Amino acid sequence: MENGKIRVFSGARPTGRQHLGNYLGAIQNYVELQKSYECIYSIVDIHALTTVETTKDLKQNCLEMALDWLAAGVDPEKSIMFIQSHVPQVMELHTMLSMVVPMGKLTDLPTFKEKVRMHPQNVNYGLLGYPVLMSADILLYKAELVPVGIDQAPHLEFAREVVRSFNFRYNTQVLVEPQIKVTTVPKVMGLDGVNKMSKSLNNEIEIAADDETTRKLVMTMVTDPQRIRRTDPGDPDVCNVFSFHKMFSSDEEVEEINRECRIAGIGCVDCKKRLAKNINASLEPLRSRRRKFAEKPDQVWEILYDGADRARKIADQTMLEVREAIGIPIYREF
Ligand code: SF4
Repeated sequence: MENGKIRVFSGARPTGRQHLGNYLGAIQNYVELQKSYECIYSIVDIHALTTVETTKDLKQNCLEMALDWLAAGVDPEKSIMFIQSHVPQVMELHTMLSMVVPMGKLTDLPTFKEKVRMHPQNVNYGLLGYPVLMSADILLYKAELVPVGIDQAPHLEFAREVVRSFNFRYNTQVLVEPQIKVTTVPKVMGLDGVNKMSKSLNNEIEIAADDETTRKLVMTMVTDPQRIRRTDPGDPDVCNVFSFHKMFSSDEEVEEINRECRIAGIGCVDCKKRLAKNINASLEPLRSRRRKFAEKPDQVWEILYDGADRARKIADQTMLEVREAIGIPIYREF
């Protein structure tokens, strides 16, 4: 822990260019957390291997994600930002932890069953050990706090159980039980207005999209299904476009649209054009920063390498303590 600040860890799979759901749900929170905590943010590329069909875009996806994080304001001076596989100690800790996790515990996890259902053709060991690797991600850095949505809290409870099992088995206090920081994030629906915004559902707007692409996508958004004709009054409360206005438009404009929609004073086409304009205006500073970073990808890789160097220092110390606690002979490099 640096400067007495509580250490936070969060990881995200390299899904490439981030969309508005990622931005509003996670990345903005990353930026905010930096103000009060010592933050470690990892692009967890090894986790991605459990389900990806091809790795040909993996490297580029890591870079695209890093670009979005940096553009959004994740500050490498304040936070450690790195790629998971650049700190291979996490694989070693994963192996150590796997010795204290009962097999039945892993096969019983609802997330494992769900993944088996989704990827029946590829039920690999990595899928089963996923929560153990996720625990290793957190415990390697002795993170005290992990921000998660309420639906992910059970994952963290698993990591806490792993700590208790390990510390009990080896009669040590070396691993730190992380606390859950439940974050309330807006549920960002996709263009279809039915499902959460998701790349796999092809219903997303990328934060790095250009103005025209954003406008075209917004024009495809589903509105109040009961509003058929321009003269029909609408109901903003059931309209996804209105949900986005609440996130990107001024209070006055939200109030105006709420009022005018209900009396058919504004049409959906105009309403969407205004939304697209506001999204573009709001994201322009971020997009401008992203373009600058994207011109120098080598610098972005250097930022990631530097983050990995800093993460490795913490990881080395933890692994030394873990090896000592277990009783594994220490190699002279330690
Ligand atoms: Fe939705 Fe706007 Fe159309 Fe009302 S006017 S239904 S808020 S898109």
